[in-house]
Amino acid sequence: MTQPKISFEFFPPKNLEGSFRLWDCVNVLSPLAPDFVSVTYGAGGTTRQLTHEAVGTIHKTSGLTVAAHLTCVDATRAETLQIAEDYAAVGVTEIVALRGDPPKGSGGFKPAVDGFQSSIELIEALSDTGKFRIRVGAYPEKHPDSPSSVSDVQWLKRKIEAGAHSAITQFFFDADTFFRFRDDCVKAGIDAPIIPGILPIENWNGARKFAQACGTHIPQLISDAFDHALRDGTQDLLATALATELCDKLIEGGVDHLHFYTLNKPELTRDVCHALGIKPRVSLENVA
Ligand code: FAD
Repeated sequence: MTQPKISFEFFPPKNLEGSFRLWDCVNVLSPLAPDFVSVTYGAGGTTRQLTHEAVGTIHKTSGLTVAAHLTCVDATRAETLQIAEDYAAVGVTEIVALRGDPPKGSGGFKPAVDGFQSSIELIEALSDTGKFRIRVGAYPEKHPDSPSSVSDVQWLKRKIEAGAHSAITQFFFDADTFFRFRDDCVKAGIDAPIIPGILPIENWNGARKFAQACGTHIPQLISDAFDHALRDGTQDLLATALATELCDKLIEGGVDHLHFYTLNKPELTRDVCHALGIKPRVSLENVA
């Protein structure tokens, strides 16, 4: 079986301890030679500066290709494009362009005054600069704001036509969910790569809440297994086995790139990659 490309999502640190954790994450995972790593942009645009600093530092010091997440929330068009220009100025040319989630309790996305009205407007504007490779979000299970799964596919098609190069999916737990979505995208004429997003479950309660908020179905089998694993203290083992099995099925089904939501905890993602046969690349410098 050919090995897939991999990529990792991190979030920006909020304090010194978080900085060490992110750095540990980069150090543990970078030997696996990811195609790229990405850094999120806090809901409501809350981590604008922190994201910028984390992206710049990883780009400068690790040699990895870094994609900066950028959203339309709470910023004018000019401010958002300035952030993108600042990335280009330091050599960061990959952007994950998103509409974004508003802050909790604010009652849904509302465009800012003079802000981008949708992800499509943001993608078009970034594409017009000619400076970026643009990735976007995709939803194998209906996005909470969407009237239907068909509408999600049509919207994704518009995002690709607006200038996106590839899409990264929301996490899911059933390989067939991804395959159905991929088939629907192909039928709709989408030919851009669709990269499955994998969430190794590091914290069962957190994952459940997160899944509920974004409409990801958790199969009963997984719920039951975690209830047992919590009693036995074997959650990490279970999480590694489940994520590895999901990735295996995806690879068997022709997937050639896996994107891991690391939540800045590198161990599970590393163990899943190792189980898939993706081993650290030892550089000649280290051997000498
Ligand atoms: P879109 O794709 O633009 O919209 C989501 C769905 O809503 C569409 O599929 C479509 O069906 C429907 N829709 C939206 N607008 C319209 C419209 N005008 N007409 C018709 N249908 C419409 N959030 C953050 O805040 N920061 C991050 O860093 C971040 N990173 C993410 C990374 C990935 C890979 C993914 C999948 C999500 C991420 N999110 C992040 C969450 C994301 O911001 C939310 O899911 C948000 O609600 C939608 O953003 P989007 O760009 O994917 O939306």
